[in-house]
Formats: sequence, C-alpha cells, structure tokens
Amino acid sequence: MEHGSANEWMALTPWVMAAIFVATALAERPFAARAETATGLRRPATNLLLGILALLLAALVPVSLTAFAAWVGAAGHAPFALPPMPQAIAAIAALLLRSFSAYWAHRVSHRIGWLWRLHRVHHADTAIDATTGFRHHPVEQFVSFLFALPAIWLFALPPAAVAIAELVLIAAGIAEHANIRADGRGWRAAAWLFATPAVHLVHHSSRQAQTDSNYGSLFSVWDRLFGTWRDPATEPVERIGLGDAHDRDADRWQRQLLSPFVRDP
Ligand SMILES: [Zn+2]
Repeated sequence: MEHGSANEWMALTPWVMAAIFVATALAERPFAARAETATGLRRPATNLLLGILALLLAALVPVSLTAFAAWVGAAGHAPFALPPMPQAIAAIAALLLRSFSAYWAHRVSHRIGWLWRLHRVHHADTAIDATTGFRHHPVEQFVSFLFALPAIWLFALPPAAVAIAELVLIAAGIAEHANIRADGRGWRAAAWLFATPAVHLVHHSSRQAQTDSNYGSLFSVWDRLFGTWRDPATEPVERIGLGDAHDRDADRWQRQLLSPFVRDP
C-alpha cells in the first residue's frame, strides 16, 4: 500500500487495534511480569467499555486529523511545508512530530487540573495489562487532538502520513501497557529508543514521583531529552493506580465517566 490513501489507512484502525490486543493478551499469559491483583471480569470489562465509548464519541464528532491535514494541504499556507518525499519517509516524519506532540499533551495533562481530572481515569486502573491501553475518558482524545494540530499545520504533513502515524501510535498505546516481562537485555536496549512495557509501567506507579515520569508513548527519547526519564531497571514499582480513594471506584464505569465533573470523594 505504498500509495495508500489516508482513508484506506484509517479503515485499518479497528483491525490493527484488535490484532495488537489479541497478540498482547496472548503474550501476557506465558510472560506475565506481575501477578494480577484484580481478578475477575469487572476490571477488563470496564476498561474495554471505556475504550468502546471513546470510539463511539469519535464517530459522533466530525473532526479528524487527516481531514485537517487535507485542508492544510489544499490551503497551501503552511510555513515549513515539507518537500515532496516518499510516503514512508513522510510517515516517519509524521510519527516523530506526532509523538512529540503527544508527549507534551500527556505531560501537560499531569499538571493542569481539569486535564488531569480527565487523564486520571486512565491512571485509576489498579492493575496494568493490554486492556489498560483502551481505558481513557472518552473526552480525553480531543486533548491529544488539539496538541497534534500545530505540527500538522506548520509542516503540512500529508494526510496519509498522518493516518499511518495515528495507526502506529494506537498500536503502541495498547502494546506498551502489556503485563509482560520486559527486563531482559534486548528489552533494555530497546528502552533507549522506545517506551517498552517496563518503561511505561513506572508511569502507572501510585508513587507520584514515578507517575510524573516516562510520559512518552512509542518513543522514550522525549523523556530523556526533556528530563522526565526514570530508568525501569532502578525504579521498582510497588503499587499500580492512584493510591487514594479513587482506586475504590476504578471498576465502576459510570463513576469513572462522571469523575472529572464531580467533587472528589
Ligand atoms: Zn499519564
């Protein structure tokens, strides 16, 4: 699909999500890093339901990064429009810029009150596995969306390249939550460049100093560059979640949906 259109790439989204989820879930059985503390179906069902609600909301709200990219391309006013290049190179450029934007969207979401209240739903999970990648407040996707707009506009990223970058980041967002042992030599080498499951696990610790680190999705290099890196080899994680009263309601999807908008318990 060298010359695949943005729509063709976007149509792959549910298939890519399903394939990565199944592959990750299968790998979790033989290679689990942590014993599951929350047993039963309620926790994974809550996570997957929140993911489905996010997809439904996205389908209802007619905004998309690829449509914005097409509009920018047609308008022709981008200050640093990329020269024509093969789709694969444009996709790598889009992926780097998109992950850079996502890093800052994520970091700001830990600092600004109302953004944290949305993002807190993701961190309220009391365990971590492939289903955690689906667990986001449905409104939160628009925060990441807003942060992605400047790079698309500045560099007039081609719509198909934007679509490919989205697909890769969606896949990484599921895989990096996998409950698999990722502390071998190969994994440690990969952690120099990528947010491996061990790297991202530190981010889900209930200790705030660890929660406020390793923000990168897909790439770990942004954390090294901007001073938020914590090496998983020297950062034991004792407990997953928020470690306060929010954990109690972690598996109640209605409470999670309302939690950004009601007074804290
Ligand atoms: Zn976070």
